[in-house]
Amino acid sequence: MGKALIIGAGGVAGVAIHKCCQYSEVFEEIMIASRTKAKCDAFAEKLAGTTKTKIRTAKVDANNVDELIALIEEFKPDVVLNLALPYQDLTIMDACLATRTHYVDTANYEPEDTAKFEYSWQWAYRERFEQAGICAVLGSGFDPGVTGVFSAYALKHQFDEINYIDILDCNGGDHGYPFATNFNPEINIREVTANGSYWEDGHWVETAPMEIKREYDFKGVGPKDMYLLHHEELESLGLNIPGIKRIRFFMTFGQSYLTHLRCLQNVGMTSIEPIAFEGKQIVPLQFLKAVLPDPASLGPRTVGKTNIGCIFQGKKDGKDKTYYLYNICDHQECYREVGSQAISYTTGVPAMIGAALVITGKWCKPGVYNVEEFDPDPFMELLNKFGLPWHEDFNPVLVD
Ligand code: NDP
Repeated sequence: MGKALIIGAGGVAGVAIHKCCQYSEVFEEIMIASRTKAKCDAFAEKLAGTTKTKIRTAKVDANNVDELIALIEEFKPDVVLNLALPYQDLTIMDACLATRTHYVDTANYEPEDTAKFEYSWQWAYRERFEQAGICAVLGSGFDPGVTGVFSAYALKHQFDEINYIDILDCNGGDHGYPFATNFNPEINIREVTANGSYWEDGHWVETAPMEIKREYDFKGVGPKDMYLLHHEELESLGLNIPGIKRIRFFMTFGQSYLTHLRCLQNVGMTSIEPIAFEGKQIVPLQFLKAVLPDPASLGPRTVGKTNIGCIFQGKKDGKDKTYYLYNICDHQECYREVGSQAISYTTGVPAMIGAALVITGKWCKPGVYNVEEFDPDPFMELLNKFGLPWHEDFNPVLVD
């Protein structure tokens, strides 16, 4: 049916590539293009003979718009699936505009020299995408991504009005290292060392990093400490869910992770300010990334489950209602299926689904959209089909 250009060949891309190859009716051909071509070739070799999807590979520097345009013009994909880093979002969107090609990503733009992420930079492309007649789907991972689709689904099928959303992201996995991150360490550490915040009554309430802590007993995992973080979907859901009064995002962290993070922060290793080292400028956080385990290597050693979902409170037929939608994912099952741990899996599957819905035309309208602005039903159906089944609880324990 269609062709996708996948940019990036890391943990998330690896899963998305496997999943595109399981959905050959839609993904007749894919091209995997990244900075290190050997990684693209390794995926192509691994999947050869297991799928009807034709796979090509290429080297590309996604910071370079001209290189991207040349690659898109040569391959002529229906959609570009951006699974590189948030730093490349705008250059890839520029190349999509120049070639009139649809765009999907999983994380919003973040300038490399400022630890700040927000949608304003990408929302600024709305008019140009509309005029070019192409569609951009922003944030089609799990969170953001499935959390937005869950919100749209809850609003469509369970509520007349949603007033409160708590997004709970629990990783009960254990990789056996004292300290490692489950996705790109640089992006992960920038996110968790930033101030926390939540959306309440139309404005942001800011907190110190890890200031707000709660304990929650997660199905399939057990009780865990979780901490309030700022997260990008709060920004779009605050605008797109009518009647919303408060949205918070909590993520679980173990004590070992937090203790190591505190030490690394205290000695300056998480800083993104360049420093002079042996005659060179280096960024401490980028050096730290180089010595930490590669998230793509955690697959074989991670055991346990993730549980990620949203607790909704609102009104239906004039009565108060609560509703919890969540997915439980087992690290080892993911590894057996696609050779990755569950964090890459829970992001790579929705990334593939977003691209598939654009190719099939179910989610394709000119402009720039967050996932909750589309019909959630086809996405929810494909989650069940491609390994992320969801569960409902009509009487969940609430977070105070
Ligand atoms: P990785 O670091 O494992 O992979 C990133 C890939 O992008 C690497 O293959 C890297 O190349 C490639 N890349 C980096 N810079 C360039 C460039 N200039 N040109 C071409 N390729 C480049 O990251 P993850 O797979 O863990 O994460 C991928 C994305 O998914 C990130 O944006 C992350 O924020 C997002 N994410 C979203 C989540 C969600 O739920 N929404 C959850 C987790 C992640 P090389 O191999 O040479 O290093």
